[in-house]
Amino acid sequence: MTTIALLSKSYDMSHLVAPIQRAAPEFTVVMHGEPGAASAEVAACWDPPPGALAKMPNLRLIQSIAAGVDNILCDPTLPALPVCRVVDPQHARGMSEFVTWGVLHFHRQLDLVLRNQARGHWFRPEQVHPARYTVGVMGLGEIGSRVALDLLHHGFSVRGWARSARELPGVTVFEGADGFAPFLAGTDVLVCLLPLTGETRGILDATTFGQLKPGAKLIHVGRGEHLAVSDLLAALESGQLGGAVVDVFPVEPLPADDPLWRAPNLIVTPHMASVASARTIGEQVAHNARRLAAGEPLSNVVDVKRGY
Ligand code: NAP
Repeated sequence: MTTIALLSKSYDMSHLVAPIQRAAPEFTVVMHGEPGAASAEVAACWDPPPGALAKMPNLRLIQSIAAGVDNILCDPTLPALPVCRVVDPQHARGMSEFVTWGVLHFHRQLDLVLRNQARGHWFRPEQVHPARYTVGVMGLGEIGSRVALDLLHHGFSVRGWARSARELPGVTVFEGADGFAPFLAGTDVLVCLLPLTGETRGILDATTFGQLKPGAKLIHVGRGEHLAVSDLLAALESGQLGGAVVDVFPVEPLPADDPLWRAPNLIVTPHMASVASARTIGEQVAHNARRLAAGEPLSNVVDVKRGY
């Protein structure tokens, strides 16, 4: 009988045991360290302890409980096994809600209105037609493409940037390294929905911010390590960035004394943009565990070499 072990060094996954067990009643589901976990065939992971997967001799599938897999692929001892991730339209919808809120916040100048309220100042900002307000989405994958299309439905001018060419009706798509500068140049609000890879680490830096229009805004919902934090602080201080919503940080939880909490025109949110439901995670772990046991092709397999 297949055993599914849950592993994380930083996140209490115990609430996922019941949903996975409900979705896969024929399998055994255990937490890392419990009897049977070491001989599990399936590892369901978020940020697994480095080296732990390599010590599981019967392991045949590494299943992320999230959309991203950077916290799994970073283990230098990662066994050469299939790595799968969660792909879920509701997860993408949740992200779309969050990003749309951020875009509307900046587009309707709620940032300015809130600053004015704090000093009792009545000022009605100009209402710019959304077609004259350009949102640039970095990453047009399962989540980024949904976000881009939803913003388009709100009437915004939407452009996107991906590694390879792709068609998204109504969205102006830029591709690869050569497409990055022209993509940035026309963007009023930059949204980062990239996976964290060797190529994208640190991509939100002074060079990138400097290629945006002065006063452009940032909504960062990718991964903390995309961000050069000191460059963000400098860009906010100088006004090159007129405001930002940042949901993900190199160190989470963000320490109480971190200067980001008090940076000008920055909204800090606690990695909450979108979370797959426990039920969805349970179903997707069970689905792949079942396919593995039946010798069928797995779903949502990651390209380990590419990093996403
Ligand atoms: P995905 O389906 O794998 O799509 C990734 C997209 O990024 C693709 O369009 C890909 O281009 C593009 N890309 C990758 N490397 C690139 C590069 N070097 N240059 C330009 N484009 C590049 O990923 P997803 O499911 O949409 O998720 C994206 C990320 O969102 C996750 O990895 C995670 O970091 C983040 N996320 C955050 C939260 C949160 O709560 N904050 C929640 C969920 C996900 P191609 O299309 O050409 O391959």
